[in-house]
Amino acid sequence: DDHQLSDFEKIKVLGHGNGGTVYQVRHRYTGAIYAMKTLTADDPVRRQQISREVDILRRTDSPAVVRCHGVIPTPSGDIALLLEHMDAGSLDSLLSARGRSAVSEPALAGMARQVLLGLSYLHSQQIVHRDIKPGNLLVNSAGEIKIADFGVSRIMRRSLDPCVSYVGTCAYMSPERFDPDSYGVNYDAYAADVWSLGLTVLELHLGHFPLLPPGQRPDWATLMCAICFGELPELPETVSGDFRDFIERCLQKDSSKRWSVAQLLLHPFVDGLEQSESDRAFCELISEPPSPPRGMLVEL
Ligand code: ADP
Repeated sequence: DDHQLSDFEKIKVLGHGNGGTVYQVRHRYTGAIYAMKTLTADDPVRRQQISREVDILRRTDSPAVVRCHGVIPTPSGDIALLLEHMDAGSLDSLLSARGRSAVSEPALAGMARQVLLGLSYLHSQQIVHRDIKPGNLLVNSAGEIKIADFGVSRIMRRSLDPCVSYVGTCAYMSPERFDPDSYGVNYDAYAADVWSLGLTVLELHLGHFPLLPPGQRPDWATLMCAICFGELPELPETVSGDFRDFIERCLQKDSSKRWSVAQLLLHPFVDGLEQSESDRAFCELISEPPSPPRGMLVEL
C-alpha cells in the first residue's frame, strides 16, 4: 500500500483519542472511505508505543479486528494510520445515543460472540489487547463489531507474562493488573481481556459502569478498591440464568478461575441462541435510533 497523505481528503471528525483526532477521509481517486488516525510521535516513549501499535496492526488480519490499510508518515514526523471505516461508531457512542438504556440479552449475546471471536484471534496471535471497553469496540451498519485501538496492547513472548503496567483505562482493568502481588506474578495475561469484556457486556446491560453507583466520577483509589475488593452489583431479577452465569465467569477476581475465551465461546449465553437470532437482535439495536450526527464538519 503505497499511499500518500495528499491522496486523501478529510470529510469529518469521527472522534478524539489520546493520540489525536480521528477523521473520516476519502481517497481522491478511488472514492474509498477510510478512517484516518494520526498518532503524534513527540517523544521517545510515545514513538515506541506507536511502533508497537503499528506492528500489531500490521500483523492482524481478521474480520473481527479493524483493518489497517496503510501507515503514512506525515511531513511533521507523525504517523497517520489508514483504518477501515466503521460507520456506526463505537459501542460507547451507541450506548449514549440510546440514552444509556439497557441493551437486550439477545443483542448482547450477539455482541459478546463477535468480540470473543476477535479476542480468540488476537490471543491465538499472542496479542493481549489490554484496553477492551465500549469505546474501543467499533460497529458498522452491517452489524459487525470489530476490536480497535492497539495503543496499549502487547505481543506476548510467553503465555505467562507479568505484563503489569498502568496503561489503558483503569476502569476496565482486571484486579490482577492493579495488584499483581496478591494475585501472583504468574497469572495468565490473556485473562485480563476477558475481565474487560465481562465488564463491558454488563455495562451495556445496566446502562452505567457496573462497579460504581451511576454518575460517579471516581478517583484512581476508589476505582481500584471497587475493582479489587468490591462486590459485583446485584443483577436485576429479570436477567436470565445464562446471562448471570456468563458475567460471573468473566468477572472472577481470581484470574485463574476466570473462563478463557475458548470456554466462553461455548457458554450457553453465547452459544445457546441461534447465531442468526442474536445477530439480528444486534443489527436491530444499531438501526434503532436514527444515528445522530457525530462529530462535526471540517473544512475540506
Ligand atoms: P484513542 O486510542 O486515542 O482513544 P481511538 O482509536 O479509540 O483513539 O479513537 C477515538 C475515537 O475515534 C473512537 O472512539 C471512535 O469514535 C473514532 N474512531 C476510531 N477509529 C475509527 C474507525 N476505524 N472508524 C470509525 N471511527 C473510528
